[in-house]
Amino acid sequence: MQEPQALLFPASSRLVAEASRQRPSFDRTVRQLLLLSLMAIGAVNAEPLRLLGPADLEQAVRLREQALQSDLAFELVESLVTEVGPRSAGSAGDASAVAWAVAKLKALGFPEVRAEAVPLRAWQRGDAHAHLTAPFPQPVVMTALGNSVATPKEGINAEIAYYSDLAALKADSSDRASGKIVYIDQKTERSRTGSGYGKAVAARTEGPSEAAKRGALAFALRSIGTDHDRLAHTGATSYQEGIRAIPAVAVSNPDADLIARLSLQPRYQGRPVKMHLSLASEGGIAATSHNVIAEIPGSSAPEEVVMIGAHLDSWDLGQGAIDDGAGVAIVTAAAKLVLDSGLKPRRTLRVVLFANEENGFDGTKSYAAKYRNQRHHFVGESDFGAGLVWRFQSRVRAEALPVVAQIAAQLAPLGIAAGDNQANPGPDAGYLMRLHGWPALELSQDGSDYFDWHHTANDTLDKIDPLKLRQNVAAWAVMVWLAGQSPVAFGSMDLK
Ligand SMILES: [Zn+2]
Repeated sequence: MQEPQALLFPASSRLVAEASRQRPSFDRTVRQLLLLSLMAIGAVNAEPLRLLGPADLEQAVRLREQALQSDLAFELVESLVTEVGPRSAGSAGDASAVAWAVAKLKALGFPEVRAEAVPLRAWQRGDAHAHLTAPFPQPVVMTALGNSVATPKEGINAEIAYYSDLAALKADSSDRASGKIVYIDQKTERSRTGSGYGKAVAARTEGPSEAAKRGALAFALRSIGTDHDRLAHTGATSYQEGIRAIPAVAVSNPDADLIARLSLQPRYQGRPVKMHLSLASEGGIAATSHNVIAEIPGSSAPEEVVMIGAHLDSWDLGQGAIDDGAGVAIVTAAAKLVLDSGLKPRRTLRVVLFANEENGFDGTKSYAAKYRNQRHHFVGESDFGAGLVWRFQSRVRAEALPVVAQIAAQLAPLGIAAGDNQANPGPDAGYLMRLHGWPALELSQDGSDYFDWHHTANDTLDKIDPLKLRQNVAAWAVMVWLAGQSPVAFGSMDLK
């Protein structure tokens, strides 16, 4: 695979040169993909082979080259984080993000722009403090997990019950945690795909109730993050029904190292680690947010929808630049390129900026209910930061795989490899795919450094490389255009 970075700096001539140097192996890959997909079809039925025509393929090349010259996506995310900033669901920032998005999409010239109300229960963070009281007094940098209940005003001062991971807590049938602050020390592994986050995140969502079942007074965990900054990573937790809700926090990785030394090193054995924890918060606040939608109506099949999304809300600690201002900017800029191309897409192209992905998926759920009977040709989402796209994946019926291979061929010059037909298209789109069995396409971003900043005060604009955004927009424009023009339906099939 060629180095994608090299493609970001050149004008289109260098891009073409790079691409043609790659041609032999690149064509081989595409031929193999086509062959495999034809074999897959042969195994299913004898539907005739239909492919994208030369006009659509040439248009994809133009979109790709235009995207590589445009900083629209960076300008959009810069505007969002500068003029709005943090925007947790139901907050004043959220309301101004919705107003920002509606105004921006209208100004970009999308023919149909609307905001659809999403009722939700908001959660509001208050002041939070923690420090070790024994065996050595030490400050602890931490933050409340989203949805956490407050401590009593005077706080909680208790011994820490240390567990290496969630499995260790779940396996504990003793009363060791009773009357203590349960602490989970699980580290997050760095990976391109985010698999380390996937492994660690259950401790955040399930940990507090598992601790409460064992009589704990509060819950703390090592931040789910790959950094060594003295900043804590927030994120939603949830409480099981019928289980007492206890305060839940994440401590920064360096503070987690301190707690680990005190808990594990032989020289400190027999000296209980105690922490004082106080936090304020308020949950269950009735509020309304909005899914913001922009559409380019389809020319020949307007009733079929190509849905590309991102989420408009962010956590409150940072600016929401990589999560998910970048995604908002990427899908919007890609749709804008299609709009400006002057060509009419066959199907309706719909950009959806979802409400409250972070703390309850209210926007997705509302969209899923409202549009459940509308035919979705495919769904996709950009919500994994601003790293380069390195892989393209699908989840479509076998008959559509030759078209998927044609799209892969147009993405290859951007340094994007073809993946499998088991796409996971992001949190909101993935929810819709699983709920309704809608087909999905995925452009996998390199998330190696995403969890250094995710859900922290460090989620700021400086983490975004404008040139990498260009490559993302190019990939999305190519994919959205070609997939939307497909002569073959991508569904339906049982994709649940
Ligand atoms: Zn996100």
